[in-house]
Order: sequence, then structure tokens, then C-alpha cells
Amino acid sequence: MALQRPKGTQDHLPGGSPKLSLDVSASAFRHVTDIAQRVLERAGAAFIATPIFEEAELVTRGVGGSTDIVRKEMFRVYYAGDHGGFVLRPEGTAGIVRAYIQNGLKQMPSPLKLWTHGPIFRAENVQKGRLRQFHQVDYEVIGSSDALVDAETIWLMVEVVRELGLSGVGVKLGSIGDPADRETYNGYLRGVFAPHVEQLSDDSRDRLTRNPMRILDSKSATDQGLIAELAVRPMLDFLGEDAAGHFGQVRAYLDAWGVAYEVDPSIVRGLDYYRRTAWELHHANIGAKSALGGGGRYDGLAAELGGPQTPGIGWAFGIERILIALEAEGIELPPSPGPLIYIAALDAEYVGLAAKAALSLRSQVRAEFGYKPQKPGNAFREGERRGAVYTALIGSDEAATDTLAVKHLGTGEQESVRLEELAGFLTPDS
Ligand code: AMP
Repeated sequence: MALQRPKGTQDHLPGGSPKLSLDVSASAFRHVTDIAQRVLERAGAAFIATPIFEEAELVTRGVGGSTDIVRKEMFRVYYAGDHGGFVLRPEGTAGIVRAYIQNGLKQMPSPLKLWTHGPIFRAENVQKGRLRQFHQVDYEVIGSSDALVDAETIWLMVEVVRELGLSGVGVKLGSIGDPADRETYNGYLRGVFAPHVEQLSDDSRDRLTRNPMRILDSKSATDQGLIAELAVRPMLDFLGEDAAGHFGQVRAYLDAWGVAYEVDPSIVRGLDYYRRTAWELHHANIGAKSALGGGGRYDGLAAELGGPQTPGIGWAFGIERILIALEAEGIELPPSPGPLIYIAALDAEYVGLAAKAALSLRSQVRAEFGYKPQKPGNAFREGERRGAVYTALIGSDEAATDTLAVKHLGTGEQESVRLEELAGFLTPDS
């Protein structure tokens, strides 16, 4: 049997492929990153690219040793002389904050807005929309703890989704407070769960000692049943004055700007570095437990990584999940354009001339040519199949007079055009 791609990975296919639907379409994928780029760069974000593998310690410290990601889902990188000191990144933020510290990006205008997109790796149980290599669009703002930044950051995430044409998206907003608030909350949770240790899953028993808040994030149905049965109070009830004030300001901005959201007191988020504002974007077709994207404030992360205390906030959404949502909503993407012109030779001896004519056009327009000679009928069909506006032929008459027979495939009009006048003759909009 021919080799297959690894489980939990996906091929994103070119237009015209036999198995194409929007959720595996490479041009839909590109459309998502293009829209994100447009929205984020208009807001002043600069593109950044960081390695897809990093020191394991960056992830352990950044994401947190008690998270599922670190405990169960890391892809370790092995190569001669190294034995797993590196991991494939399971999220984008820790690497970007590391790059910010390491490269002195503090000198840049503050707060600094950065965006990127790329592959992310988590060894999860594979399901629809849950892959082991997936892709994220990531936006980060480093250097401010102002609630206005939180609100703008959330607004931008909603704006990307809106520009993509998605309508079934809801924002769930919460706050997970400051570290002291979380301490208080963890104390409360220990008290609530301690008498029921036996009913907790093995993982959650472990979480009870390490980080009880993680229990709320559990994927186990029995844990979730117990949480409901015990009517566990949400984190939001435990916010201290500062965090509560900050949360109020974020909400006031969003309300003033007409951004729809629902306060979700139970929001926890799977990563340890979050502080205060945390949110998720949900879509009906992705399933209740899985989000289109999520974000949060991470004021403690830079210091955790050994840098100076630097506030930050950011979000990421999963490109594959966006594609599922686009497909489910039946959204039509702009068709990918074909070449402006397809040039074919009628005889083998003119193939080089056809190529030369196409190559000379390429500094200005998209031009393709046939590698083998073709009969006129076949050449026109080939031009159409590629979505060309024009198809041109070169035979003995054309070669003798330095011309091409150029046909507009839409109108059917055909003209003899001198080679040096070809670029001027072609009009992309016609
Ligand atoms: P997280 O960092 O876990 O908040 O993830 C941010 C976003 O990445 C999620 O909301 C999903 O859209 C996407 N995502 C996370 N894990 C996966 C996965 N295993 N497969 C596909 N997308 C994912």
C-alpha cells in the first residue's frame, strides 16, 4: 500500500483536486490567513515567525507543568546528540514572548502588536476538528495591561471571523483573576473536591494536588458530572477588586462598541499562563466542547520565562476549525483566478517560442504555456480548463512574423498580435 499521512494530520489540497471540500482546500486555508493578515495589519500588527521547535522547558514553564498539553500531548524532537530536550510547539504564545525578550523587542513602540500563523502540534485523541498537527492564526499584544487593549484584542478576533463571513459565532467571556484570586479559588476547590476524591478521574485526583482549577477543564464525563452535582462556584465569584475592576472596564468597552458576548463564569482555559481576561469563540458546527479559538491575558508569562515583568494578551484560532465552520455555513470563497494568458505551440519546434513569450510576460502578469504542441481546439480547451482569459497560438505563420494568434476566450474574438506588443494588448479585466 502506498504510504499514508500520519494519523491526525491533514493535507490541504490545491483547487481542482478530486477530493476537495472547503475544509481541506489549500486556497480556503490561504484565504483565512489573507483575511487575518488584512484585519491585523490594519490594526498595526507586524508579522513574526518563530521556530516550530523550542526548548521543552519553555513549554513546561510557559504553558504549565500541570496542563494536559505538557503532561500528555508533547511531541518530543529527537536527533543525534539530543534526546528530547526540544519539543514541537504546542501553541504559539510562549515562543513569541521568548522571542520578544531574547531580541529586545521592548525597544519597539509599545504595546507591540504581533501576528503569525503556522503549524502547532499536540498528541491528542484524534476526532473531527481535533488533529495532532493543526494550524493557528495567532495575535499577541505585548507591553500593556490596559483594559482597552483587552477589548481591542477581542474586537479584532471577532472582526477576522466577521470578515470571513461567518455568522454563527458566539463569544464567551470571563476572567480568571489575578494569581492571589486563583490561590483563593484553588483553596475553595480543594475543600469542595476533597470529600469526593474517590469519584474523580485519575487525572483529576492528580490535579487536585497540583492545580485544582484544571479539574474544571477535564474532558472526563464523570468529572463534569461531579462538578455539576456539587454546584461548584465559578472563578468569577472569586475575583479580587483589581481583577473585577479590570473585567468591568473590558466589558464596558465591548458594550460601547456593540460587540456581542456572553459572560461565561466557568471559563478556565487550558493553559496556565492566563490572568484576568479569558475568552473563547464558539461555533455551532464545531461542537460545544471545542472552540473556534480562544485567548487571554498573560501578564505573568514573560517573568515566568526569565524575562522582565511584561504584560501581554493574545488569541489564537484553529485554521482547520475555521474551515469546518466555513464549509458548514456554505460560504463561497472568491474563485482563485487562472492565468491571464495560456500560450500553446502548434508544432514541437515552436514550444520554445511559446515558453519565451510566456516568460517575458511574467514580470507583469500570470502567463502559462504548453510543454507539448497542441492542436488549436485542444489549446483553447486547455486555456479554458486553467481559467485563462486569453489563449494564444504560435504556428509557422506566427513564428515567421513574430506574432501570436490571440483569442479572448470570453468573446471569442481573435487577433494577430505582435510579440513586443503583447503585454500592452492584454487587458486583465476583460
Ligand atoms: P488553545 O491554545 O487550546 O486555546 O487552542 C486555540 C485554538 O486552536 C482552539 O480554539 C482550536 O481552534 C485550535 N485547536 C486547539 N487544539 C486543536 C486540535 N487538536 N486540532 C485542531 N485545532 C485545535
